[in-house]
Amino acid sequence: MSGAWRIVARRTGGPEVLEREDIALPVPGPGEARVRHEAVGVNFIDTYHRGGLYPLPLPTGLGTEAAGIVEAVGEGADPTWVGRRVAYVAQAPGTYATHGLAPVARLFPLPDAVSAETAAALLLKGLTAWMLVERCARVQPGQSVLVHAAAGGVGSVLVPWLKAAGATVIAHAGSAAKAARARDSGADHALHLPFDQLAGEVRALTLGRGVDAVLDGVGADSWAASLASVAKRGILVTYGNASGPVPAISPLDLLRAGSIFLTRPTLFDYIETADDRRAGGQRLFGLIADGTIRADIGQRFALAAAADAHRALEARTTTGSTILVP
Ligand code: NDP
Repeated sequence: MSGAWRIVARRTGGPEVLEREDIALPVPGPGEARVRHEAVGVNFIDTYHRGGLYPLPLPTGLGTEAAGIVEAVGEGADPTWVGRRVAYVAQAPGTYATHGLAPVARLFPLPDAVSAETAAALLLKGLTAWMLVERCARVQPGQSVLVHAAAGGVGSVLVPWLKAAGATVIAHAGSAAKAARARDSGADHALHLPFDQLAGEVRALTLGRGVDAVLDGVGADSWAASLASVAKRGILVTYGNASGPVPAISPLDLLRAGSIFLTRPTLFDYIETADDRRAGGQRLFGLIADGTIRADIGQRFALAAAADAHRALEARTTTGSTILVP
């Protein structure tokens, strides 16, 4: 027995398809490191993988990020990595495990002040916020931005990031308590409204103009409100499907919305090159170091209870980040 194990899905379905499975200790291939996980980040994408919205060959591991200690490296990798504290975003799901393999080129060394739990809470979500604010919407000081699910994992990083960028932040969340959290994290306006009333309120807050950017990870349910909230020539960034995928649209919808820009990014395309990972990592760890971004770990689950983490995330009962501890 290696003592190593993982969470596996042998079929797609609800959280009950997640099972624990003993595995051999992973052996790093050329250029790879084996990381002993100390904390694993839970992301909404993990539910898309489990449920089949994003199809994967089965059986499959789950999980797209983890933090821990490098235990071993493969041929050609710098041996001084061994013993270092790192975090990584996996290229293929499988970080819900005691150990994982990653190319050393994709490891983010952790500053002393950043714990494994903080890294697992913030790496993927923080890089996503960087992508959305600085690479997609390219938010400028004085602009206004609408953020949905503003007390969630990505949302609770976006709010302070946008404030640091000099934006006016209109936060929207699914309950009054979540809206209050978004206000506490710096939102200028924190709303808890039915989606069919949201655009009217956004227009009222922006003197009829609408916002320069909408950052929308909710998807199907928020789509119409998002489209109706963007200012002329503003940008709508739809980056997730928490309530289901956005329906098909026509380019003419963008004309009718005021000649707006639309993008549907995935983080994986924005951290493909070493330069991008360095740039994103520097920005994120810089904002963690200066206190702009703090880990808001709303929930911790044992790794073996990953199914419970999925239930909570899908039931909208979580706030901030959710992590699993092996
Ligand atoms: P969150 O912690 O934000 O959880 C999702 C939140 O979405 C819920 O808490 C809830 O907040 C809101 N929501 C609205 N409707 C529903 C619904 N029907 N079911 C469940 N949740 C709903 O998750 P993450 O921070 O992990 O991810 C946020 C979004 O960002 C997801 O869509 C995810 O896929 C996306 N994402 C995209 C990336 C990319 O590269 N494109 C990278 C990382 C994340 P409330 O109750 O306040 O409405």
